[in-house]
Amino acid sequence: MEYRRMGNTGLQLSALSYGSWVTFAKQIDDSISDRLMSIAYENGINFFDNAEVYSSGQSELMMGRVLKSKNWERSSYTVSSKVFFGWRGKENKPNQHGLSRKHIMEACDEALQRLQLEYLDLFFCHRPDKNVPMEEVVRSMNTLIQQGKIFYWGTSEWSGAEIMEAHAVAQRLGLEGPAMEQPQYNLLERQKMEVEYYTIFKNIGMGTTIWSPLASGLLSGKYNNGIPDDSRLALEGFEWLKDRTFTEDRIERIKTLQQVAEELDTTLATLSIAWCISNPNVTTAILGATKEAQLLENLKALDVYPKITNEIKERIDNIMNTKPTM
Ligand code: NDP
Repeated sequence: MEYRRMGNTGLQLSALSYGSWVTFAKQIDDSISDRLMSIAYENGINFFDNAEVYSSGQSELMMGRVLKSKNWERSSYTVSSKVFFGWRGKENKPNQHGLSRKHIMEACDEALQRLQLEYLDLFFCHRPDKNVPMEEVVRSMNTLIQQGKIFYWGTSEWSGAEIMEAHAVAQRLGLEGPAMEQPQYNLLERQKMEVEYYTIFKNIGMGTTIWSPLASGLLSGKYNNGIPDDSRLALEGFEWLKDRTFTEDRIERIKTLQQVAEELDTTLATLSIAWCISNPNVTTAILGATKEAQLLENLKALDVYPKITNEIKERIDNIMNTKPTM
């Protein structure tokens, strides 16, 4: 495994990590999540990603049970949670979601209880909240750091301007600004990582924990001949994700990309993840496997990514046609 410094912090995260969105409690039970987290850990993965909203809190409960049953030293792995959406869905009352001080503090305590942990290594603001002053967010996150309940705070899917505002406020108050961001980044979504955050990487420094490196599995090629019954895009309640992810035009480009994977003697999934971590601004790409075979295949990205030369990148750019202009 390769370990990378998370932006300007001293924390080292494995270049590949493992997350629980959709999968934990919805697609897999305790025994499979135990097996997948064990494979991840034994292969050097040291970061497990979670959030209050995943499966309405059930995902954290499941990860907590698995972690409790292991004899892994707490100092050998890192765990995250995220605050914003709340875990009660439509039942959320006004202060049970968002980024007010009340919800940030309570969400952290509730995540710690569900995960059965004493502290979170990473805590993300899952989305920006336009109804809360930035100073309240920055101060609340710093209070949690001072209380020893979280070690690093960050953002997810914030704009470059919002991240910069958080830094400006933190600097004015002599507090810690966000250390990391969790954006989507894959061969179909490149704008934020390659253009919008460019000056933040260059001038401030920022770690990134990437979500959906396979665009929910689309980039594995599994949808090239339709939607398999046992796949994420066939799940009831996830029609919105299918509509957002699956288009014929994307499938055609992914089919063409297969040639590059074959030339490198690898699979589409491995190639796509390898391409993702070949960006030096990526600290870690979070894998979302539901099966052992998927996780083992995706871990091979570590062997493939040294083969992603500039020439290969150019060929991939020409096929996918998603390279943003600066
Ligand atoms: P991916 O894009 O890697 O998609 C994962 C899904 O793709 C799997 O669940 C599986 O679905 C399928 N898959 C994975 N590997 C293979 C393979 N080798 N062959 C075929 N199919 C494969 O990642 P996620 O979208 O799951 O995101 C990763 C993590 O990022 C999440 O768990 C979560 O922790 C985080 N996240 C954060 C978000 C945020 O807003 N901050 C948003 C979304 C995710 P299946 O078997 O069901 O078809």
